[in-house]
Amino acid sequence: MTLSIRNIIPILKAKFVGKNDIAIIDSISIDSRSLQNTSSTLYFALLGPNHDGHHYVAELLEQGVLNFVVSYVPSNLQGKANFLVVENTLQALQTFAAAYRSDFDFPVIGITGSNGKTIIKEWLNFLLSPDYNIIRSPKSYNSQVGVPLSVLGINEKHNLGIFEAGISTVNEMANLQRIIQPTIGILSNIGSAHDEGFHDAGEKIKEKLKLFSSVEVLIMNKNQTVEAFLNPKIKTFTWSSDDGKADVFVIAKESLDKTEFKITYQKLCFTIAIPFSDQASIENALQCLMVMLYFRYDQDIIRQRMLLLYPVEMRLKVKNGSNNTTIIDDSYSSDFQSLKIALDFLESQKQFKKKTLILSDIFQSGLVTEELYSKVSHLIVSNKINRVIAIGKTIAGFKSKFPNCLAFESTEKFLEGFDTIPFENETILVKGARHFHFEEIVSLLEEKTHETVLEINLNAISHNLNFFKSKLNPDTKLMVMVKAFSYGNGGFEVAKLLSHHKVDYLGVAFADEGISLRLAGIDLPIMVLNPESTSFTAIIQHQLEPEIYSMKGLTSFLKLAEQKKLKNFPIHIKLDTGMHRLGFEEENLPELIAKLKDNKTVQIKSILSHLATSDEMKFIDFTLSQIKLFEKMSSTVMEELQINPIRHLLNTSGISNFHQAQYDMVRLGIGLYGVSNDEEEQKLLENVGTLKSIISQIRIIDAGESVGYGRKFVADKPTKIATIPIGYADGISRHWGNELGYVVIKNKKAPIVGSICMDMLMVDTTEIECKEGTEVIVFGESPSVSYMAKRLETIPYEIMTSISQRVKRVFYRE
Ligand SMILES: *Cc1c(COP(=O)(O)O)cnc(C)c1O
Repeated sequence: MTLSIRNIIPILKAKFVGKNDIAIIDSISIDSRSLQNTSSTLYFALLGPNHDGHHYVAELLEQGVLNFVVSYVPSNLQGKANFLVVENTLQALQTFAAAYRSDFDFPVIGITGSNGKTIIKEWLNFLLSPDYNIIRSPKSYNSQVGVPLSVLGINEKHNLGIFEAGISTVNEMANLQRIIQPTIGILSNIGSAHDEGFHDAGEKIKEKLKLFSSVEVLIMNKNQTVEAFLNPKIKTFTWSSDDGKADVFVIAKESLDKTEFKITYQKLCFTIAIPFSDQASIENALQCLMVMLYFRYDQDIIRQRMLLLYPVEMRLKVKNGSNNTTIIDDSYSSDFQSLKIALDFLESQKQFKKKTLILSDIFQSGLVTEELYSKVSHLIVSNKINRVIAIGKTIAGFKSKFPNCLAFESTEKFLEGFDTIPFENETILVKGARHFHFEEIVSLLEEKTHETVLEINLNAISHNLNFFKSKLNPDTKLMVMVKAFSYGNGGFEVAKLLSHHKVDYLGVAFADEGISLRLAGIDLPIMVLNPESTSFTAIIQHQLEPEIYSMKGLTSFLKLAEQKKLKNFPIHIKLDTGMHRLGFEEENLPELIAKLKDNKTVQIKSILSHLATSDEMKFIDFTLSQIKLFEKMSSTVMEELQINPIRHLLNTSGISNFHQAQYDMVRLGIGLYGVSNDEEEQKLLENVGTLKSIISQIRIIDAGESVGYGRKFVADKPTKIATIPIGYADGISRHWGNELGYVVIKNKKAPIVGSICMDMLMVDTTEIECKEGTEVIVFGESPSVSYMAKRLETIPYEIMTSISQRVKRVFYRE
């Protein structure tokens, strides 16, 4: 893209406030934190429920960004940059993308539906890329913001577009249609996902079909319900395995790990196969087949390419590497758009200053090679990458364009030299096209542990954070509790994400936890809930902020503060209003006040208390009395000492149930990790942790034979037993065994039979098609931690925090 501001103004119908309207724009940004923002970036200041892009304009100006689309010019900045003032910045972004899209007239495939969009898009890209220069949505960029950004990636060399569109409620699709302007439509599986935003299934279908209002053809699984809503003028191209009226008739024969299709289309009858046997993959593959038939591909090519379909990994994974490294694994794609996203992710997740990028040849940019690698080089330099390892015949030729570059002709050549290249104390982004097999590089870099992992979905954490933020008054501050290794979900990584989201405070239980976060480079204010007197020196040294809850603690902290000649060191005063755990009681207040009067060594940063029953409305009177007492006690301290500290009282369920008692800040804990004890609220949160393992061994036992220690399970018929390498030493309660609990394999429940062992458990898989190595879900979406807690008569907190540190945590972003 190269456009001048002068050309953009009329498209946006913007009012221009600035001087240089001939400035040239070559990229669009909505993210103030991206290191890719430069003087030729046009920054759209978007407005979200808890976020206002206008707040970052001044900061961006300092970084050299000069062109902004805003709904008002921030005060004092008039004359300092080019401002395009519009009413609504999101609409302006969309209008801009729509106008930009109209300048191109190659075929564009638009995909919507409830499930499978991203996989269909990635597979089509794989199947068609030998013959086309494809532009496609990166990752699952399919929203009101993601779609315009995807479309703005088009350039002159592209000759096929594949974009996905996702909606969550009515009146969203017309917008996306206007931006994508698809010429070929695909309606993927219309399942029941995201139904909350719609009145009924009919409304949802009608809304989705709006994407196809002017396509030349709509590809779909023949379905009378959908057809009833479809404008009869729209030409369809349908497939079915039960309706003979479909254009393409399919008979599928599934076996353990592949499916064969017999295809009948016009006069043709032929067979193809795919290396998958689950229903979702079958449907997604058939949608892709339809596109190939529509494009008149020869059946031999269809057969060859479909056989090579692969599992799509849409996620950027963060893993621990050996020698104190962090690895960001994006080893399945390599195109310019997704490189930009991966570099932004690297910046937001980097634990070490030093950044290495391992990069393969880049495909499908649509640009000529020279121009492409100049752009890549520019991107890498602006992201301050310290070292580049370039792998591939083409990229190796541009070695001199990259900082500290080592170049290799192929992955094999790199692996041969692997032991001679140092990797330590750094963050490594591994990004390569699929056929470079960079997963082999990742497996060498990775720390070696066993197969059980706790996968943490960073998007879900962001979602839950925003959900709770949206419940707060606009100026209520937010402390997030990251004690106990962020409730078992990973200390540093979660804290890093929270810094990225600019929360106001972190809370930990002990000084050690705070110190580890400081050593890892977290610089948010951190309150320590339960500091022992012996840790005060370390607390001061690492700029942690102690919660002071007793006269004894106060006395010893003041003494130390005196010795060290501290000035206004931040402390937090805890009041006991009924929990009876930690805190000053009402009768202690005069002494507390006397001690702190005119003391200049410390500053009361906040006053807090904790609710004992915020989650149980049957104790509402007790909670209200706690709130009242907090108001009274904190007011006394404030008046007597003439101070105006932050006051805070609410934990997660307090936020949900006692909105009126937010004071100046709240302390969010379990809710961030996806758990609510309110059923309705639970539906609005996203699952964060998924504990996964694999099947180590399978055997069939006869009736009368038993399983495990103590022969607690005896089979009454031939039974297929699978052994999973996770046990009570990993934190799975023994009570969960003996058929009370289950794991999920291929979406089916497999009851845990016999007693759980220290490092293993056994499950009944008689009804499940599985083999050694098949993935097993111990908890996650289902069974959920809340469900387990109920059955085990405990609380989700205990289950989450019990997962042993020997279980590897893997963080990912979608
Ligand atoms: C753990 C904790 C919280 C967070 O509680 P959740 O129920 O997880 O939201 C808040 N305040 C204090 C003092 C805590 O110890």
